[in-house]
Amino acid sequence: MERDLDVLSGNTTLLCAPLVAQTVDEILLQMNQAKVHGADLVEIRLDTLSNFKPHEDLKVLLQQRTLPAIVTYRPRWQGGQYEGDERHRLDALFMAMELGADYIDVELQVAHDFMSSITGKKPSKFKVIVSSHDYQNTPSVEDLGDLVARIQDTGADIVKIATTATNIADVARIFHVLVNCQVPIIGLVMGEKGAVSRFLSPKFGGYLTYATLEAANESEPGKPTLQNMLGIYYFRQIGRDTKIYGLIGNPVGHSKSPVLYNATFKSLGFNAIFVHLLVDNIREFFDVYSSPDFAGFSVTIPHKEDALRLCDEVDPVAKSIGAVNTIVRRPSDGKLIGYNTDYFGAISAIEHEMRGSFSLKGAAESPLSGRLFIVIGAGGAGKAIAYGAKEKGARIIIANRTYERAKELANLVGGEAITLGDLGSFQPEEETILANSTSLGMYPDIDGTPISKEALRRYAVVFDAVYTPKVTQLLHEAEEVGAVVVSGVEMWVRQAFGQIELFTGSPKAPEEVMRKIIQERI
Ligand code: NAP
Repeated sequence: MERDLDVLSGNTTLLCAPLVAQTVDEILLQMNQAKVHGADLVEIRLDTLSNFKPHEDLKVLLQQRTLPAIVTYRPRWQGGQYEGDERHRLDALFMAMELGADYIDVELQVAHDFMSSITGKKPSKFKVIVSSHDYQNTPSVEDLGDLVARIQDTGADIVKIATTATNIADVARIFHVLVNCQVPIIGLVMGEKGAVSRFLSPKFGGYLTYATLEAANESEPGKPTLQNMLGIYYFRQIGRDTKIYGLIGNPVGHSKSPVLYNATFKSLGFNAIFVHLLVDNIREFFDVYSSPDFAGFSVTIPHKEDALRLCDEVDPVAKSIGAVNTIVRRPSDGKLIGYNTDYFGAISAIEHEMRGSFSLKGAAESPLSGRLFIVIGAGGAGKAIAYGAKEKGARIIIANRTYERAKELANLVGGEAITLGDLGSFQPEEETILANSTSLGMYPDIDGTPISKEALRRYAVVFDAVYTPKVTQLLHEAEEVGAVVVSGVEMWVRQAFGQIELFTGSPKAPEEVMRKIIQERI
């Protein structure tokens, strides 16, 4: 089944699990696990074995292997653990070739020597990967081009370049090299900001990509583990025509968006992948990632306001709110169009929960109409919520740590401003709605809350935009004092409906499917 999909997507990129262990038995055990989890091949790191006995151990490892194997014996001067004599190291690699290894990974610095030592002795299917590692930076495109040429010059069957990302823009240079290389190439960018290089390797034609065996799961969707690659990103279906979507933010690692969006794309048969994009500078990001392949983006902390400024066109609602949480690259001219789906997400979630609990004049009337609505926070989410509540006829008060920002937003929506300190003693009228839009209470600082439990008793409805964890300290306490509570998860799923419609161009998101994905997997 998966193989059929590979053929359809044109994806020939292999999935390789590096095996790092101290004993031969552990490596064999890990190899079986890698096979069960869907790896195509493994990399055996000889330098991590303690008391390595080349002939004896290689024989067992290669005879008993259950997957094709790359044998690597990485010296300390290239980031490995081997510290001994170079001759012994290269002899062990030579022996691995003779004992039937499928690939050897050898460093560029010694590749000429190694290649001449195997001349005329190379088994027909055996391949040599010549590698170069940079643990500090990613060189310029020109320098990377020179590096590829030097590696090719050694007679390598496969070129491997591993660099380090100090900025997500670095990864674009490796994509450029992958696309333009005339020989099989592995391009990998290390570090959290480079993780996207592994997920997108099939898109840009990498020979293989690495995924760890780690039992990381959907709570860390940004980690390139075998399970995540296959279960969250549907690695086998990524091909040259796959469009790239992603969440721009910092931090982004906690976000479960890839789980929801990739599964939704799959259910729609939409050829796209959704990844985390750990971005420091959003303007620089768009300068570098300007190709139509990068088709759409969710935007989160701290970029929503900058996103508005750099879009070529902004939807009037997003303009009024002053924040953009969705960007679509228009296919006809490549222009970036900004939208805001947060306000609809939050407001419709609150309205939904309030219907039935409050007396309304007519079915068409919003339960927010005429009611007092307090927004805690004046950032991107706060602006969207305040704008939406105002549109529904609520009277708005903004409470924020920085009073000036509260005042600014209050002026925008015709409301009042107070400080976060004042909120504790504030006496609201009956049936007042309280909405937190600060990040207080967000994972990992889950004990945080913007208001005391005592003060919470005065509110009829409490909403929290924070959605990790699902039940925040604020919601937990609000529930205890008997308020109607509305979770940030509900806002998140509803704003996601809007994003999916904008990304896929479909008039209606598959809401039931998306709710099922959330229920089962998030
Ligand atoms: P933002 O633009 O950076 O604004 C952050 C707000 O939180 C500001 O008002 C800031 O006050 C306040 N704040 C931050 N740390 C604080 C602290 N220690 N004490 C008091 N106030 C503090 O962020 P945002 O985009 O609006 O996001 C805010 C929260 O909403 C995040 O947790 C985000 O995950 C969540 N959110 C959820 C959804 C959803 O779909 N459920 C959508 C969007 C956002 P100052 O002005 O004083 O700095």
